[in-house]
Amino acid sequence: MTVDQSFVVMAKPVGSHCNLNCSYCYYLGTDALIGSAPAPRMDDATLEALIRRYIADSPGPMVQFTWHGGEPTLAGLDFYQKAVELQKKYLPAGWECWNNLQTNGVLLDDDWCAFLSREHFDVGLSLDGTAALHDRYRRDAAGQGTYERVHAAVQRLKAHGVKPDLLCTVTADAAREPLAVYQPLRDLGTGWMQFIPIVRWGYNGAPTEDSVSPEGYGDFLCTVFDLWSRNDIGKTGIQFFNECALVKAGGQASLCWMAPVCGRVPVVERDGGVYSCDHAVDLDHRLGTLDDGLRGLIDSSVQAAFGSLKRDSLTGQCQACPHLPMCNGGCPRDRFGVSDDGEPGQYYLCDGLRRFFRYAGSRLDILAAGLRVRQSPDDLMAALRAEERAMWKNIGRNDPCPCGSGKKAKTCCLGRKP
Ligand code: SF4
Ligand code: SF4
Repeated sequence: MTVDQSFVVMAKPVGSHCNLNCSYCYYLGTDALIGSAPAPRMDDATLEALIRRYIADSPGPMVQFTWHGGEPTLAGLDFYQKAVELQKKYLPAGWECWNNLQTNGVLLDDDWCAFLSREHFDVGLSLDGTAALHDRYRRDAAGQGTYERVHAAVQRLKAHGVKPDLLCTVTADAAREPLAVYQPLRDLGTGWMQFIPIVRWGYNGAPTEDSVSPEGYGDFLCTVFDLWSRNDIGKTGIQFFNECALVKAGGQASLCWMAPVCGRVPVVERDGGVYSCDHAVDLDHRLGTLDDGLRGLIDSSVQAAFGSLKRDSLTGQCQACPHLPMCNGGCPRDRFGVSDDGEPGQYYLCDGLRRFFRYAGSRLDILAAGLRVRQSPDDLMAALRAEERAMWKNIGRNDPCPCGSGKKAKTCCLGRKP
């Protein structure tokens, strides 16, 4: 999800309904938290209210619609045909809509792909790197893996001229084989991917087995960054690395978990209910309904308090951290770690992030500068490789690892030395 100075609505046309049963899904079962079981699909009147009010409350001239779930394609192609018609009806002259559909891809046949291509939808498609990893977590209701169907959907989209953004989770398993995850995604040639760490807190007061550890996440990021920065700039974009470069260049991250405050990405559920964010859809975070007006709800004191809690609840470690501008202490929903000096409320993946920022920091600076002056990918990669060699120069097996872990290189990143 992305944010800007204004706000971006994440619409849930079918709420948490889904045709898959992915084991790590955070949204399945949300109906129980919002205290009602609305109709399975957003009705026509609610859809029209969403589009009319969102456009009216947006500063324009670009209005970004993110269609999310559950599985948003379950609303049917006719729902989106209607949505596009309504967008055209309500858009002021000179304004545009940008539609982003985040899907598991299982229902994407030629009719869907032709529509998405014709209407210039951006498509985010969930694909967990390897068939083995994907089918372990992303199964249908019958317990069957879905890798082959999703892989076919990527090819079908590409045949229609749509290059999907590949959304890949980083579980504990995936973190153990970063190259095996990254390379096949890159080789699909869609040009863009996101890595989404899986962090879930179990009822036993410990991370679930599939949750990536801070160490595993840091290792995954460092390894993928090395490979990408040596070979793939200009061919493949990786959202987190681009976001880091953006912040290094003085910009503001568009990923909400990297932003200083929360609250600019509200959810509109299928009954028109408006909630604070995708990870806060429950009665405590119900701001109101579309009838109350989106702008007013997003600027309300309740949502402002939700947003500023992120900044106001930073641990002392985060407040003193040189990397604070990069991650702003991470998502408050995942702050169930403990800081170095024992303060609760630390972002669980902090150690992994710190390791990555230390390991890749000088190269992120080069990346940011290169992107700012539109340096050619080849020149940029040459500069990054030179920096990587300089970083490793004179580092022997028993020297401190340049990732800043405090370990000897031989027990840490030496295997990554170019
Ligand atoms: S709580 Fe987490 S997911 Fe929600 S807006 Fe804040 S950073 Fe984003
Ligand atoms: S790297 Fe860790 S300590 Fe530093 S700001 Fe981020 S979460 Fe806080």
